[in-house]
Amino acid sequence: MKILVLNSGSSSLKYQLIDSETEDILAKGLAERIGAAGGGGRIKHECVANGKAEMDVDMADHAQAIDHVFGFLTDPKVGAVKSVDEISAVGHRVLHGGEKFVQPTLVNEEVVLEIEKLSDLGPLHNPANAKGIRACMKLMPNVPQVAVFDTAFHATMPDYAYTYALPYKYYQEYGIRRYGFHGTSHRFVTGRALKMLETMNVDSSKSRIITCHLGNGSSMAAVVGGKVMDTSMGVTPAEGLMMGTRSGDIDPAILPYLGKKLGATAEDLDDLINKKSGLLGVSGVSSDMRDVENAANEGNKRAKLALEIFVYRIRKYIGAYIAAMGGLDAIVFTGGIGENSTTIRARVCEDMEFLGIKIDPDKNNTLKGQADISKNGSKVRILLIPTNEERVIARETVQVVAGD
Ligand code: ADP
Repeated sequence: MKILVLNSGSSSLKYQLIDSETEDILAKGLAERIGAAGGGGRIKHECVANGKAEMDVDMADHAQAIDHVFGFLTDPKVGAVKSVDEISAVGHRVLHGGEKFVQPTLVNEEVVLEIEKLSDLGPLHNPANAKGIRACMKLMPNVPQVAVFDTAFHATMPDYAYTYALPYKYYQEYGIRRYGFHGTSHRFVTGRALKMLETMNVDSSKSRIITCHLGNGSSMAAVVGGKVMDTSMGVTPAEGLMMGTRSGDIDPAILPYLGKKLGATAEDLDDLINKKSGLLGVSGVSSDMRDVENAANEGNKRAKLALEIFVYRIRKYIGAYIAAMGGLDAIVFTGGIGENSTTIRARVCEDMEFLGIKIDPDKNNTLKGQADISKNGSKVRILLIPTNEERVIARETVQVVAGD
């Protein structure tokens, strides 16, 4: 089957066409500046077998963007299918499933309405996700649409891990609780890690692993027997680790304090913690880890401090999760930073021998792709596992359509 995987942002649309039997990517691309006031829309497309193409085109909404994407997908030169009818199903990445959606779900009108309702909890993403789904329902009414939720893998957390120590009524009335994100990635690397651990005689049903998804957005999860026990992101993706532009954990009282000092609105403060903080806010250099690493290597003190905070926060969470789970079999690194930054991985694992965590510097510096980078004899395995969220979405879409 050919599965189209869509990730609709507020003004962008990422897509991949995947062959579900081989799990090969047939084509992929990105449409940007959808609905932008000044126009300037652009689509970049790549058909793995036939080459790349780009087009400047203004797109009023997601439906127009998807229509153009279909044009590329069926193009005689750079297309991957003869007709859109060859697409068997569409898998949509949806940010927030709240407590309602804990499984990938076949979409109907009621489901889209629920996704729209959850915009309260995911104001930046859910409205755009719903727009992408509605556009596909209109353009391909007979093709099944499946929603795959970023929160779903974390649905197994116990109440003491997901409940905030706020008045309980706010959980009951507004659904304020930890949900966690990057679930598709944590799920994928967990599956891979458990397979690797089985070859090392670790019983998956009792395994305790920590998955670190370190990218522009970063989160960690404590996973016991394949099920999430805790995760670092919260009701929104702002909590937990330091990220490209997000603060992660801060004293909550900073917000009313700064609000008064700056005369800032709730929206300004939201912007502050989500878009102006993290690596960017501390270093003043960039939100991109490569730039921050380069600046630190050139002696920039704030870039060095940003790196120290980034690493220190991950180490604190490792300690917390080992205590929460009562032990550890493996740490998994994934995401743009986790997969590529040998320095960050080395610094996270430094001086942790007393916990049974021993990284092999040579393996860390040289191995790429899926690999065990721990020293021989390390009690805890340190695993490098490239994530592939689109592949999981395609897989889950096939399962839902097949009724599994
Ligand atoms: P997203 O969360 O948007 O999917 P990615 O998972 O692609 O992002 O991660 C992007 C981050 O990965 C950026 O901070 C980037 O600097 C970092 N990154 C990519 N390659 C490297 C590298 N070789 N060394 C250090 N950081 C890297």
